[in-house]
Amino acid sequence: MSAAPVELRLLPDSAKVDESGGLEIGGLPVAELAERFGTPLFVYDEAHLRARCAEAVAAFGPGVSYASKAFWCLAMARLVVEEGMSVDVSTGGELHVALAAGVPPERITLHGNNKSDDELTRALTAGVGRIVVDSFDEIDRIERLVPMLGSAPPAVLLRVTPGIEAHTHEYVRTGQNDSKFGFTLSTGLAERAVGMAAASPAMDLIGIHVHIGSQVFVADFFRDAVSTIADFFASVGLHELSIGGGIGVAYVADEHAPTITEWADAVHAAATASGLGAHITAEPGRSIAAAAAVTLYRVGTIKELPGLRTYVSVDGGMSDNPRPVLYGSGYEAFLAREVLAPRPRTVRIVGKHCESGDVIVPDAQLPEDVAVGDLLVTPVTGAYGHSMASNYNKVPRPAVVFVSGGVAREVVRRETLDDLLRLDVDG
Ligand SMILES: *Cc1c(COP(=O)(O)O)cnc(C)c1O
Repeated sequence: MSAAPVELRLLPDSAKVDESGGLEIGGLPVAELAERFGTPLFVYDEAHLRARCAEAVAAFGPGVSYASKAFWCLAMARLVVEEGMSVDVSTGGELHVALAAGVPPERITLHGNNKSDDELTRALTAGVGRIVVDSFDEIDRIERLVPMLGSAPPAVLLRVTPGIEAHTHEYVRTGQNDSKFGFTLSTGLAERAVGMAAASPAMDLIGIHVHIGSQVFVADFFRDAVSTIADFFASVGLHELSIGGGIGVAYVADEHAPTITEWADAVHAAATASGLGAHITAEPGRSIAAAAAVTLYRVGTIKELPGLRTYVSVDGGMSDNPRPVLYGSGYEAFLAREVLAPRPRTVRIVGKHCESGDVIVPDAQLPEDVAVGDLLVTPVTGAYGHSMASNYNKVPRPAVVFVSGGVAREVVRRETLDDLLRLDVDG
C-alpha cells in the first residue's frame, strides 16, 4: 500500500486544492457544500459532465447516446441534450424521466431484455427514435402493438451477442454467447431475427447493436467485437451499428483508461480495417458520469481494534454506493481538508448499515490524523452510485448537487424521513 496522496487525475476536471489545502470543485470548497447540503452528498462538476458529452459527440457524431442508467435525473437529462447527445433508456422509469425532462422523443433509444407491453406502448406512442429489440418475444409484441396502437413502425436495431468475453466483472459482461441479452451470432439466432424483423411491416430494421459489457479497459475488445460482427453486418445490408457503451474509467491509483476519443478512434480504425461502411454510434454511460462526481461523507466513529485493524465509519454506505458489495470495486479515499497529505494509515472505511459487508473501501489509505467529524471524500462515484442507491435500513438517499463557476444547485434533494413513509398504505 502506498502512502502517497490521492492522484489528482482521479478528481473532477475543475477540482483544485485551495490555499489551506482543502478540496474545491466548481470553484466552491466542498466543506461549504457539506455544511449547506449535508452529508452524504454527491457533488458533480457540471463542466466535467458537459466536456465528456461534447467529447462523445465530437468522437462519434450526433446520435451518440448517453446511457441513462449510469446517473439519471431531470437536470442530467437536460444537460446531455443541451450538449447534443441522445439518450438511451432501458426501462419505463428511465423513459419517464427522459420524457418529463423534455428530451425530444426522436433522440431516445429504448433498450431492455424484457420490455413490457406498457413500456413498449409508452415508447411507441411517444415516438421514440429507436427500439433495440432483444428477443423473439419482443418482435411478436411489437407486431401486435403497432397495428393496435396505430403507431408508426419504429426504427429498430437488433441486439446481437458477438461471442466476446470481455475481461471485466462477470456481472457486467454481456457480449458472451451465454447471456440473457440479445440474439447470439454463433447459433444463427441473429440471422433468423434479422430475417423476421426485415420482413415485418410493424418495424423498420435499420441496424445492429452490440454491447460487450461495462468497465472494459482494453480497446482491443471493441476491435474484436467490430471485426467479429463485420461479416454479419455486411451480409444483412443495414447502415447503423451501435457498439453500446462499456469503456472503463480509472477508479484507483493503478488504473488507467482510454479517453472517449481514443475509444472511438480504436473502433473507427477497426471498422475501416474490416471494410465496414456503417454509421457507427455508441452509448457511453460510465465514461461520461463516473469521474465527474465525488461523494462527501462525515466520519462518525473510529474504532481501533489492537493488532487487527481500524474501522472508520461514515454516514452512508452500501445504500449510496453498492458497487464494492456487488462487484468488489475499489475506491480511493482522502480527507477534504488536506487533499495533498500523505496517507500512511491503513483503515477500513465502512458504512452505517447492519451488515459486515457494508464496506466502502476495505483497505483505504488515510492521513495519520483522521478524526471523528472529518469530511471524507471518495472520488469517481458519479456513475452507478446514486442510480443504484437504495433505502436499505431506511436510510434516506443523499442529495445531488451540480457545481459550476462558484455556484451550486441542488438537482436531487435529500430524501426526508417522511419520504420514507410516502408509499406505505396505512389502513
Ligand atoms: C449499461 C449499458 C451502456 C452503458 O455502459 P457504460 O459501461 O456505463 O458505458 C450502454 N448500452 C447498453 C445497452 C447498456 O446496457
